[in-house]
Amino acid sequence: MSDIIQGRAGEIRLFQGNEAIARGALEAGVNVVAAYPGTPSSEIPETLARVAAERGLYVEWSVNEKVALEVAAAASYSGLRSLSAMKQVGVNVASDFLLHLAQYGTRGAMILISCEDPGALSSSNEGDSRHYARLMEFPMLEPGDFQEALEITKWAFDLSETLKTVVMVRSVTRLSHASGNVRLGELPELKVPKACFHFQGPLLDQMEGPVTNEPPSIAPLRRRTQEKLKQAAEIFETSPFNTYSGPLQPELLVITSSTCNLYCQEAIHLLGAGSRVGLLKLATTWPLPSGLLKRHLKICGQVLVVEDLQPFLEENVKVLAAEAAAEIGPKAFHGKRNNCLPTVGEITPDLVMGALGRLLGVDTRLSFQDYQEAVSQEVTPFIPPRMMTFCPGCPHRASYWSIHNALALDDRQGFVCGDIGCYALGTMQAGFNTVKTVHAMGSGSGLASGFGRLEAFGLEQPVLAVCGDSTFFHAALPSLVNAVHNRCNAIFVIMDNSGTAMTGFQPHPGSPTDATGHPAPAMDIAAICRSMGAQVQVGDPFDLLETQRELLTMLESPPGVKVLVLRQACALSPQKKGKKNFEVFVDPLLCLGDSCGCNRLCTRAFRCPALTWDKTAHKTRVDEVLCAGCGVCVSICPQGAIQKKEAA
Ligand code: SF4
Ligand code: SF4
Repeated sequence: MSDIIQGRAGEIRLFQGNEAIARGALEAGVNVVAAYPGTPSSEIPETLARVAAERGLYVEWSVNEKVALEVAAAASYSGLRSLSAMKQVGVNVASDFLLHLAQYGTRGAMILISCEDPGALSSSNEGDSRHYARLMEFPMLEPGDFQEALEITKWAFDLSETLKTVVMVRSVTRLSHASGNVRLGELPELKVPKACFHFQGPLLDQMEGPVTNEPPSIAPLRRRTQEKLKQAAEIFETSPFNTYSGPLQPELLVITSSTCNLYCQEAIHLLGAGSRVGLLKLATTWPLPSGLLKRHLKICGQVLVVEDLQPFLEENVKVLAAEAAAEIGPKAFHGKRNNCLPTVGEITPDLVMGALGRLLGVDTRLSFQDYQEAVSQEVTPFIPPRMMTFCPGCPHRASYWSIHNALALDDRQGFVCGDIGCYALGTMQAGFNTVKTVHAMGSGSGLASGFGRLEAFGLEQPVLAVCGDSTFFHAALPSLVNAVHNRCNAIFVIMDNSGTAMTGFQPHPGSPTDATGHPAPAMDIAAICRSMGAQVQVGDPFDLLETQRELLTMLESPPGVKVLVLRQACALSPQKKGKKNFEVFVDPLLCLGDSCGCNRLCTRAFRCPALTWDKTAHKTRVDEVLCAGCGVCVSICPQGAIQKKEAA
């Protein structure tokens, strides 16, 4: 039995935020879970997959977020309780279906968990999916701490069932990936409900009719959606998750949500401003509970809105205040719109303390500037200089080495359209600055499809795209279909490292197991590409010379879509981690360092972290602890100084 289902009701456990969300879903009696991995959301489905057998759940890693939402919706339309989890960029992928889902509504309770990444700690953007709740007209809840992560998730299922609409629960990295104490609730009695999809009732019968968004029904569907929002706003007026703490008539009212609630509490406490500042924490951030807000806005003329990312809450509160101006009187608003708080990057307790200090006339500089300087003085000397790089033994370093060299030899200003995954480091020195574009999942292949048709406009540069195996199934596949059908001229390199490596090796349709570890049919990427009509080769990225030769052949061959699948498992994958193919070492007699004219290709250019430069001996060494034993560097050294022997 896994931790998440151990423990009696009332017991306090230390849970990661994502585990608290998963536990909340279990306490709500979730039946079906569908997701695509993405930091910081991946642990929610992973945690639920571990208990799928014990709790009678169906859990899947779907091919992308739109499909995940559709799988969860099918469960809801069949009367089951379902959950779909994704990171903020995934909501964009799912948004096409989400708009239809929001308009029609749901049957069994259905929750969309969006885990967002303010500060873009592990994302390529700082997307803010709260706007989808307003755009598409469905309720949104934001847990303000770990206990609420559990309880709000649980409540979201009931709310969805009451309103018959999708409910979004929004988390952020600092909640999803941090840990805190959580008091457990009751797990429901284990029962597997019978799914049944009813479709023979009248068109607009939400529970019995066909589920369609067809033109004649749009107006009544939208009216129904908006009626649900009104009901949600009424329910939110008395939600126990909206809380106020502070004096009856504060000098300053702070309105906040999500983990900014914790930053505000800390800042108010550190400033000793508890008797001057009121803190209104909202968990129901769309639609806003207008009565509750008006009551609190009345008590104070100065308002500071504290939130991560865009001024979503601030602008909506201002609209409400403008509409209720006659009732609540004029207010001075502070927040992101007047640069009191930044619109880029994460909010921190220090930033809140600075904003509060300025508004309350308290000098806060000494409190955190001194601290930061002291920390910096103490810590900086011990921090080794680091650059972002691939791990020792990473097949992507080898792939980029060959791609970079092939393009240099070809000498026609060829370029690579990159994609989302650890191989996005191809834009940096780690990937020899080979990649020139990185956007959304699959966009590298889509852009290559576009660039590959510009010959008629004089584009003579060779076009390449790289994508990983999970990205191939997620969103690159349609671009490749597009490229073949439209007779594009490009080389697509699929870096197949056997799993969704960046987010923790979740399986995908090319893997032989499913989300719960059971055997599943694995699809062969090369065979799929061949079936489309592309010219396909499969290679080993660790074979640098052969990979380079294959790329040069493709660069010189007649126009068309060419696919090179470079297969080699990630160095950190369960099948490889800790296992070495080779013992690799440097022969000090052959390595002459700078004096041999090699320009230290190994440590200056290839830069595997396991290759180190011995400043005393002026020779290269292999760090046995870091070395993954891939053997690739053996073919880097022009002197044959790096050597390998089969590992014991
Ligand atoms: S190992 Fe080879 S490439 Fe590296 S410094 Fe020595 S001779 Fe040059
Ligand atoms: S064999 Fe060479 S390239 Fe591979 S991990 Fe070891 S030092 Fe790095």
